[in-house]
Amino acid sequence: MSTPVPDSASPRRNHGRASLVPGKLKTRTNANGYKEFYDENLGQWVLTHRRAMENHLGHPLSPDLHVHHINGDKQDNRVENLTALKPKIHARLHLVDSDACLRCGRSGHWAADCDETTDFQGKRLKRR
Ligand SMILES: [Zn+2]
Ligand SMILES: [Zn+2]
Repeated sequence: MSTPVPDSASPRRNHGRASLVPGKLKTRTNANGYKEFYDENLGQWVLTHRRAMENHLGHPLSPDLHVHHINGDKQDNRVENLTALKPKIHARLHLVDSDACLRCGRSGHWAADCDETTDFQGKRLKRR
């Protein structure tokens, strides 16, 4: 008959293990249809697509930028489906034209072909 090894027999190892294996991430879908997860470090719910974009960029996202799901699926948080843009252009994509240019907000061309110097409201855009 074998006796179970008490935890105290290898405290360092057990401790290390505990911190390496994260608890199951708590997730939910918020009222707007976006996925959120509970960030234990922050002690608050975080929008998964924003965090995914921040991880991709390697720095925190400016609060005056939104993150949009390019294919329209708010649950699809693959980096290639996400793009950061100005809130006004984001709103236009959702309310007016889902195929509008992600850069200037005008209809009829893609962001990759965009050579506009102003956005759809006439506000100057940064050159690229
Ligand atoms: Zn969006
Ligand atoms: Zn454009």
